[in-house]
Amino acid sequence: PAVERPIHEAVLGRAAEFGELPALIDGVDGTTLTYTQLDRFHRGLAAAFAEAGVRKGDVLALHSPNTIAYPIAFYGATRAGASVTTVHPLATADEIARQLRDSDARWIVTVSPFLEAARTAAESAGGIREIFVCDRAPGHRSLLDMLATTAPGPEVGIDPAQDIAALPYSSGTTGTPKGVMLTHRSIATNLAQLEPLVPAGPGERILAVLPFFHIYGLTALMNAPLRQGATVVVLPRFDLETFLAAVEKHRITRLYVAPPIVLALAKHPAVDGYDLSSLQHITSAAAPLDAELAAACSRRLGLPPVGQAYGMTELSPGSHVVPLGAQNPPPGTVGRLIAGTEMRILSLDDPGKDLGVGETGEIAIRGPQVMKGYLGRPEATDVLIDQDGWLRTGDVGRIDADGWLFVVDRVKELIKYKGFQVAPAELEALLLTHPQIADAAVIGVYDDDHSEVPHAFVVRGPDADDLDEGEVMRYVAERVSPYKRIRNVTFTDGVPRAASGKILRRQLRARP
Ligand code: ATP
Ligand code: MG
Repeated sequence: PAVERPIHEAVLGRAAEFGELPALIDGVDGTTLTYTQLDRFHRGLAAAFAEAGVRKGDVLALHSPNTIAYPIAFYGATRAGASVTTVHPLATADEIARQLRDSDARWIVTVSPFLEAARTAAESAGGIREIFVCDRAPGHRSLLDMLATTAPGPEVGIDPAQDIAALPYSSGTTGTPKGVMLTHRSIATNLAQLEPLVPAGPGERILAVLPFFHIYGLTALMNAPLRQGATVVVLPRFDLETFLAAVEKHRITRLYVAPPIVLALAKHPAVDGYDLSSLQHITSAAAPLDAELAAACSRRLGLPPVGQAYGMTELSPGSHVVPLGAQNPPPGTVGRLIAGTEMRILSLDDPGKDLGVGETGEIAIRGPQVMKGYLGRPEATDVLIDQDGWLRTGDVGRIDADGWLFVVDRVKELIKYKGFQVAPAELEALLLTHPQIADAAVIGVYDDDHSEVPHAFVVRGPDADDLDEGEVMRYVAERVSPYKRIRNVTFTDGVPRAASGKILRRQLRARP
């Protein structure tokens, strides 16, 4: 059943009940915000935004790293009737300008270290009425003053089914990032769908290490825990040692991460230097996670199996999750279909044809969490969502007899070798099992026979100076069918990834 509430009410509806419990803690300086404060401050800010001229339907760009002010700014803006477009804090002025223009933004909230980029972007995009800062900067109004407003907030009539609460941009893994229109209802409903399966109430301490601006962080690290009375410890960026130290210091109980962090937890020597005994559960999402790697991580930390979730920006964002405490979920699964949601597996050769248990095809989803559409791109929306409301995810997967879903890779990334299809994710996972390989990525490149062949980019681990191309190719060849063999290897210092942890294969392809 759909939740017909504005997002700030769906999330903060129980804030009074949670009262003096800590809602947010700054992981760097320890500043704490209680639920009472979060509730009061976001109302004060909504009133101040309204006084400043923010009107229903205006787009407000939230351009900030993770801070304890982020949710105040977000819910303050939606309560004032704005749609929030979340912007990568490290985006260049050109990238910010593109998003401001594309989303027709009127207002910006930023932080002083990134103010210059925001200003340059605003000038180039035009149409910006005011730039607010979360901290302090000469010539700009500060949220610190605005949230103290005691005037009664604006009475904005929000239609949860139609009005856009958030306008996040997809990661841009496969092309230019697209503005995704998410209504109050689609976001609030998805929270309610996921909550019984992965509850996180008072006493849970969750480390917000993935960015809030991406829909995964926004949901798992901000909306979901704040709705249930958990405590969110906030880190502004990912750095392995700072992250590990924060888990130890703040006695973190739950992590929501992407596969690169699972990789670090499984393999990095620094992990042994910290007391991570407070951890009780880890969830991974956003990119394929290998079962072996997940098992190595939970073994090393003495935890139950790493649970996965699956979704995309266009799904507000979830359709599948491994329920907390699930008895023996099969290794590698991304979870079961959540309530109120339907799934089909479509034939890759004949997209009209439904496949059955165990058969591999494209995943299609229908449910109340499907986006309203891509902003300003009706044709792209129609390509993605058919007239009956089915969204084609572009991901390849299969289900087992118990309904557990396995994601193979993206349709677009599959390497087509002489009539066979090779999933880069499978080869990447295999490469990571090599003790001397710290990280890896695989793309398809054309060989002399005009067939696509797998090409690996490999990061050597410590003490791996002797690791050469021959060894990498041999290692894979001994373990896979001949058509999946790696044909070329490039050694590199790092694998390019989006902030959400996804391998940017486009960038690898562009390398000379
Ligand atoms: P763009 O659409 O702009 O190219 P993107 O698809 O990477 O970028 P997101 O919406 O952030 O943007 O990511 C959704 C995608 O992430 C899914 O389509 C899927 O490919 C991948 N994904 C999410 N969760 C998982 C998971 N558990 N396992 C494998 N892949 C996942
Ligand atoms: Mg996508």
